[in-house]
Amino acid sequence: MPQTKILSGKEVSQSVYHSLKPRIKRLKERGIIPGLAVVLVGEDPASKIYVRSKTRRFRDMELYSETFTYPASITESELIDKIQDLNRNELFHGILVQLPLPKIIDTDKVIGTVDPDKDVDGFHPENLGRLTAGKPRFIPCTPKGIMRILEYYQIDLNGKHVVVIGRSNIVGRPISILTSLKRKNSNATTTICHSGTRDIPYYTRQADVVIAAIGVPNFVDDSYLKPGAIVIDVGINRVADQSEKGYHLTGDVDQEKVTGIAAALTPVPGGVGPMTIAMLVENTVESAEYSVSDI
Ligand code: NAP
Repeated sequence: MPQTKILSGKEVSQSVYHSLKPRIKRLKERGIIPGLAVVLVGEDPASKIYVRSKTRRFRDMELYSETFTYPASITESELIDKIQDLNRNELFHGILVQLPLPKIIDTDKVIGTVDPDKDVDGFHPENLGRLTAGKPRFIPCTPKGIMRILEYYQIDLNGKHVVVIGRSNIVGRPISILTSLKRKNSNATTTICHSGTRDIPYYTRQADVVIAAIGVPNFVDDSYLKPGAIVIDVGINRVADQSEKGYHLTGDVDQEKVTGIAAALTPVPGGVGPMTIAMLVENTVESAEYSVSDI
């Protein structure tokens, strides 16, 4: 059976942290500590875990972060006021609103309130618009992390066919734009599939690179791939089991079935996940650098 190379996001993220250290040092020499405000609303257990891993990484990198926790009963206008305060607070170069927000709150309105210059998640319409126009400022962390994994492993997308499954503003849509931009390591022909696509395997079997961002455990198996395809598994799905924790994490790709068919694969965990956090740190450092004109 041919070998499937593991594309370790964990390894790539370590190289990102290493490269950020001198940039952080330069900022600190000017009295600037890159700072991130995290806004967490409600009691979603997965969100709490994500926030904890993000803030832990900021602490490890000796950066500043503060989590602002609000009950699910907070009103939309109260939340918007809080974000406007953070927009004005010079301690914070980045503001992250942990999603999902309670259903009663208009997520788009809240995201639209974040100052685009502090939108290190890259979800503000202005930043998504810039990306679409090929002139990105903050690129959403997960798609940016995927591109970085591909670059690290010298997988050049130029002329390749990329098939993305999923069209969310967080992953699917921005990665479809990034892969098809006319620039180095991109320039792919990108097809985007979603719940309205009739025969997804018809498209994925033509793909050199398949990017699965669906939120359905083990959706992509060997029948979706041509031999030698590169597979990026974005999914992080909790699947209930008998373990002490009561669940385990599974990607959108059936990793066992595609092993030996795919040329390369990102694992779950340890693939795209660590890169999302690394890109959040990088975007926050970048934002702090924008605040100093001569760096
Ligand atoms: P999302 O907002 O729920 O979007 C899912 C997308 O997949 C939608 O476009 C949806 O189509 C499509 N889809 C869902 N079921 C489908 C099906 N049966 N057939 C075809 N298309 C289908 O999810 P997301 O935020 O993009 O996240 C996707 C996955 O990535 C989740 O597992 C999430 O936990 C994970 N994730 C991981 C990271 C990381 O750091 N690794 C970061 C973000 C997200 P429609 O548009 O038609 O509804």
